Amino acid sequence: MSKPKLGIYWCASCGGCEETVVDLAEDILGVVEKVDIVLWPVAMDFKYEDLRAMEDKSIFATLLNGAIRSTEQEEMAHLLRRKSQYLIAYGSCAVTGGIPGLANQFPREQILKYVYEETPSTVNEKKTRPQLKFVESGREVHLPELWNVVRSLDQVVDVDFYVPGCPPTPNITREAVNALLSGKLPPKGSVLCPDKALCDECARKDSKPTNVAFVEFKRPHQQLLDPTKCFLAQGVVCMGPATRSGCGAQCTSGNMPCTGCFGGTSRVRDQGAKILSSLCANIEAKDEAGINKALEGIPDPVGTFYRYGLAKSLLRRRVNLPA
Ligand code: SF4
Ligand code: SF4
Repeated sequence: MSKPKLGIYWCASCGGCEETVVDLAEDILGVVEKVDIVLWPVAMDFKYEDLRAMEDKSIFATLLNGAIRSTEQEEMAHLLRRKSQYLIAYGSCAVTGGIPGLANQFPREQILKYVYEETPSTVNEKKTRPQLKFVESGREVHLPELWNVVRSLDQVVDVDFYVPGCPPTPNITREAVNALLSGKLPPKGSVLCPDKALCDECARKDSKPTNVAFVEFKRPHQQLLDPTKCFLAQGVVCMGPATRSGCGAQCTSGNMPCTGCFGGTSRVRDQGAKILSSLCANIEAKDEAGINKALEGIPDPVGTFYRYGLAKSLLRRRVNLPA
C-alpha cells in the first residue's frame, strides 16, 4: 500500500518553521517512514511543474508556513489547497501573519524605498529596484510582485487545521503529524494545541498579581529580572494571560517574558486588544499625564501587543493603505 503523501512549503517566513521539522531529529525518520515527502523545496529539489501535474487531493497533508504577501505565494497557496486533502497553517506567520504582518503598518512603496535606497548599509545611487520582468538575450525572467498587504493563510484559502508558534515546537509538530496520520483529528478549523492560557503552564504563575497598579512599564533589558517572579509583578509586559499554552513556557523559563507567538486561546477574539485593555485598566495614574508617563515604557505598542498577529487582528492594517 502506498504511503500518504506529505508536502512542506514556505511562503513569507524566516525559515525557523523549517528548522523545527529538522529539529524533530531522529523522530523525522519515523515520520519519513510513514509518509512520502513529495514537496519540501528547502531540503529537496522538487519542481512546481511536478506539483501541478499531480492529481487534485493526491497530497494527504501539506504543512504550509509563512504569510502570504506576493503573487507567487498566493498562487502556491491556491495550488497546494487544490492538491491537498488537509492544508495546515503551520507557524505564526501562516496562522496570523506573524512578524511579516507588521509590514501592514506601512505602504509597500515606503518599504521598498527604505530597503533598496535608505538602509544605512545600502549604496544604490541609481536607485535600482528589482523589476517584475527582465529581458536579456531574448530570454524573459519574471519576479513575483509584492502585495501591499500581508495576509494569513486563511485570508487567502480555506485552512483545515492550525499549528501555532514562532516556530512551533518539535513536540507540537510531532503531535500534529501523529494526529493527522492516526486520523484522530478534532473538528475542522481547530488549533492543534491546548486551549488554555500560557500562565497555566508557567512556573511563575503563583506570583502572578491579582491586583496590580502599574506605575511604569520596563523593557526586559532595563532591569535585573527576578527569575522566579511573574513578569507583570515586575512591571514588564508579558503576553502570557492572552496567549495559548503548548510551548512549555519556553520564554518565561528562560527569564524572558512571553511575546505571544502561540496566538490567543479560543476565548480571545483579539490577542493584542485583550492584553492592552487589561494592562491599561490597571495603570495606577488616572490623569492623562500620568497615564502617558506610564505608557512611555512601551515605545512600540503595535510591535509589543500585535507582534505576531496584526494581519489577523481587528486592526489588520493601516486604513489609509490602498488595497
Ligand atoms: S503573566 Fe507571564 S510570567 Fe506571569 S504567570 Fe503569566 S506567563 Fe508567567
Ligand atoms: S513563551 Fe510565549 S513567545 Fe515564548 S514560545 Fe511560548 S508562546 Fe511563544
